[in-house]
Amino acid sequence: MNTIIFFITFMVLSTQTMIANQVNQMIGDEYQAMVETREIIGTIALTFDDGPGRYTDAILDVLYEHNVKATFFVLGHAVQKSPDTFLRTVEHGHEIGNHTWFHENLPKLTPSGVFETMRRTADLIEQLTDKFPATMRPPFGIFGTREQVIMEELGYSMILWSLDPRDWELRNSQQIYDYVMENVRCGDIILLHDIHESTYKAVAKLVPSLIEKGFDLVTVEQLLEETRPGQVYRRRD
Ligand SMILES: [Zn+2]
Repeated sequence: MNTIIFFITFMVLSTQTMIANQVNQMIGDEYQAMVETREIIGTIALTFDDGPGRYTDAILDVLYEHNVKATFFVLGHAVQKSPDTFLRTVEHGHEIGNHTWFHENLPKLTPSGVFETMRRTADLIEQLTDKFPATMRPPFGIFGTREQVIMEELGYSMILWSLDPRDWELRNSQQIYDYVMENVRCGDIILLHDIHESTYKAVAKLVPSLIEKGFDLVTVEQLLEETRPGQVYRRRD
């Protein structure tokens, strides 16, 4: 009698295991098919200016969750104020660019003023990371030939952008999201600011949607592959 009960129990249990294995196999196949059909259509770079700010950590969480990298053009005075958030950005493998110390309009400064705001910011970045930034973004995107000559001398390539959802002005996550999703193309450098809540909320939706659309989200240096000091870049052509 005991043998029969044992046998029946054994049969029931092994049937359950078989079914469970089959279900796992089916889920596995489906997942594999999903991964295989996700076609990468090209790379794009998300860039965040004017931080570290109040929403930088939340944005870092989104990027981490989806395992993507971005570029942060930081202000020296903001790094000095929030060194922990800045270091977290670096630890997560994001690229750091120089965005001056106080967001100065560069052509309005004296030549030594331009050198000073760049040097002070770079010194702090280097002190915290042991790495000198290779890229810079002029505040407001404003620069002249003089600034280009200075950046060449200092070893910076100048990174502008090809897609501007005007997040700093709109302050509406749905409008920022819609603008990016409707206009994004391969090779784009997207301008955002990690100091607004609406930008964080837009990014939380944008990152999975862009991945779903087939974009590989990379840093500016990964996107452009090779950059030259003093040269201005808006997108990967
Ligand atoms: Zn800025």
